[in-house]
Order: sequence, then structure tokens, then C-alpha cells
Amino acid sequence: MKKALIIGGGAAGCTAAHQLMKMGGWDVLLVEAGAFLGAGVRTFYYGGHPYTFGPRHFLTQNREVYDYMDGICPLRRCADHQFITYVERDNAFYNYPIHVDDIAKMPDAALIQGEMAAAKGVENAQNLEEYWIGSVGQTLYDKFIKEYNKKMWLVDDVSTIDTFSWSPKGVTIKSGPRAAWDTALSAYPYAEDGYNRFFDVTTEGVNVRLKTKIERYDIPKRTVWIGGEKMTFDVIINTISPDELFEKCHGELPFLGRDFHKIVFPTEHVFPEHVYFLYYANDEKFTRLVEYKKLTHHKSPTSLVGMEIPSLNGKHYPLPYKAVQKLATEYYKMMPDNVYSIGRAGSYRYGLDIDDCIEQAFIMAKQIKEGGNDYPVPMEMWR
Ligand SMILES: Cc1cc2nc3c(=O)[nH]c(=O)nc-3n(C[C@H](O)[C@H](O)[C@H](O)COP(=O)(O)OP(=O)(O)OC[C@H]3O[C@@H](n4cnc5c(N)ncnc54)[C@H](O)[C@@H]3O)c2cc1C
Repeated sequence: MKKALIIGGGAAGCTAAHQLMKMGGWDVLLVEAGAFLGAGVRTFYYGGHPYTFGPRHFLTQNREVYDYMDGICPLRRCADHQFITYVERDNAFYNYPIHVDDIAKMPDAALIQGEMAAAKGVENAQNLEEYWIGSVGQTLYDKFIKEYNKKMWLVDDVSTIDTFSWSPKGVTIKSGPRAAWDTALSAYPYAEDGYNRFFDVTTEGVNVRLKTKIERYDIPKRTVWIGGEKMTFDVIINTISPDELFEKCHGELPFLGRDFHKIVFPTEHVFPEHVYFLYYANDEKFTRLVEYKKLTHHKSPTSLVGMEIPSLNGKHYPLPYKAVQKLATEYYKMMPDNVYSIGRAGSYRYGLDIDDCIEQAFIMAKQIKEGGNDYPVPMEMWR
């Protein structure tokens, strides 16, 4: 039997474990620092309401990934999910992402249309502010983007943020259907406890050690120390911040976290029928609210809403800055063959979602099975 070590038991680590077990011939050890598998994707209960730490809507363009999740946790399609943004200066809710149909309804529609016609494009944008103003003009930027990004990334000035592909689907102004991501397969598990079964099924036969951390790493030798015991592996699959594997020798990779609040409302439903998420683009401290019933469809005379507030608590969001992404690359360069780094923190990649973690694990497993490092990967900087 070959020996594999998986570090972290979230979506990426558990899918990776499952792929190795399905392959056969692998003795897999998965170490998870927390008391449970799944991290923020795990469902808990509050006042009888199932919830996860922030929304964990399943959205993918990849049919194989969809079928994989659906085969383990049967998925209910979300037919017409809408996301909306509150813009205080108009005292109005608009579609999220910005939708072309909403512009005509805005009090300053003529100004916005003029600015959009004169917008100089994004080709030479040097930062996120220039990217958005170059794309949609100053007024839409001020209404939808500026304050949101200041709180999202905890900065005072959006021009300090590098340009990055922030916008859903790479569009800044959406047209066509009002469903937020109408080209993706959009779903959530039927089971009231959401994805919990996923983490049980994917780790069947795996040696899972919860509340465990690796004490020392010697990555070039694929060797670690756990509970004082020295262990060497044929393959290591990392899903935590890559700097941790090398004693942060090039410096620490920064992350942002989230404070999460649960609020029960005394009504059966809170949001309009098709609205799943509410975004807030003003100076409120929170970025987004989610009404869990929209995802879970559970019955109750009350309804649970989750609120996210960006903070320094937790490693939830890798930063979208070129300088720190370059730093992450220094760590990837130090990884020898048969050491992989996948998942959101493992790839140091903001915007990498559950479906992307699964897709990465599929590709990694193919590489382990077929050998060679030379095949297309969906995410640059993956290794
Ligand atoms: C607030 C929020 C909302 C989101 N909403 C959605 C959504 O609606 N849809 C969607 O598809 N995606 C969403 N995502 C993203 C998605 O949930 C993540 O991409 C995915 O869950 C990441 O999985 P992972 O395995 O890479 O990392 P994680 O789930 O973070 O797993 C890493 C694991 O490693 C463990 N760990 C950490 N350090 C150590 C250590 N030293 N030793 C051992 N174990 C360690 C952690 O406890 C954790 O269990 C959201 C993310 C956030 C933060």
C-alpha cells in the first residue's frame, strides 16, 4: 500500500481522500485541526434552523463535478435564484451583479448612461478602482463597488487593491435573465443537514484524525511529525495555507476572515420569493445576508438569516494582491513532486469555491494515477 497524507478536512481534502480510496492501493491519513470535517460547509442548527457559516450554494459549470456531488448528496436545483444589492443613496434594491435593466430605473440614469458611453475600458487599468470606473463609470462605481470593496478587503482606498477578476462570470454589467448566475448549474442538497453526508461518504475507510495538527514538516522529504511520531508519505496533499508547511520562511501569507451572526426573524419568510442573498453596498459593516430557508426549504414559522462581517478572524479569504500571490508562488516552488496544494487556502486563491475544490481534487487524482506533472490545471498557481 502507498501512503498518503491529507492536511485539512474541508471540501478539497475530503474529495482528495475519496479519489485515492476509489483508486485503491492507498493508505490515507487525513489530519484536521478542528473537531469536525467540512469546515464552513458543515451544517449546524440554531433555533432548529439548519445553517452553514455563510451561504454555501453549489454553483458549477462542470457537469462531472455536479454529478459527483449529486451522487453523494442529491441536489435540488435552484431554478431562479436572485441576488440583490441595497443602494442607500437611491433607497432601492437592484440586481446583483449590476443588471443593465436596472440602470434605466435609477434616478441618475442619464448621467450613468453618459459615463458608461465615455468609459475608457479596462485594458490599462492598474487597480480595482480603475478597472471598475473604466468599465461602468464613476457613478455606478460609487454606488455599487466602492464601499463594498472597502469593507470586503478592509481597506480605506480601493485603488490600493490590484485589478482582479472579481466580477461574477467576468462581466461588470449583466444583461438577460435576472437569475444571478444563469449559466451555472445552481443547487443545494435536499437533505436538511446539507452537505454533511458528503464528508462521511468521502472519508469512508480513511484514517481521520480530528483535533490534530502536524508538529513539524520536512516537505522535501515528504515527512512530518504527528504526536511525536515521524511519518513519511508517498504523497502529501495540502489544503491549508502553504506557508505553514515551510515555517513561513518567506513570510506569512495574509488572509481575511469573517465574523458571522445568526438572526432569527419572527416571520415565516423574510426575503422576497426568489431572492437568496442580499448584498449591502454602503457603509454598513456587513457585506451580505442570506436567508437559509431559500437553500434548505425547511419548514418553520420563523426564519434564520445569516450576516457576514469581514474581519481578521479566520483564514477564509486569500488576498487578491499580486505581491502576496507572488509570495504564495515562492512556497509552491518549494514543493517537490508528489506534494500537492489544493483548495481555497491551499491554492491561495480567492473565488475558489466548493466546485473548484472538487475539480482540483479530480485533476490531482488523475495526475497521481497517470503520473507526470504536465497537464492542464484549471487554476493557475495551483502548484
Ligand atoms: C463565508 C463564505 C461563504 C462561502 N459561500 C460559498 C458558496 O455559497 N458556494 C461555494 O461554492 N463556495 C462558497 N464559499 C467557498 C467554499 O466554501 C470554499 O471554497 C471551500 O469550502 C474551501 O474548501 P477547502 O477544503 O479548500 O478549505 P476549508 O474548507 O477551509 O478546509 C480546510 C480545513 O483545514 C483545516 N485546517 C486548518 N489549519 C490546519 C492545520 N494546521 N492542520 C490541520 N488542519 C487544518 C481547517 O479546520 C479546515 O477544516 C464560501 C466561503 C466563505 C468563507
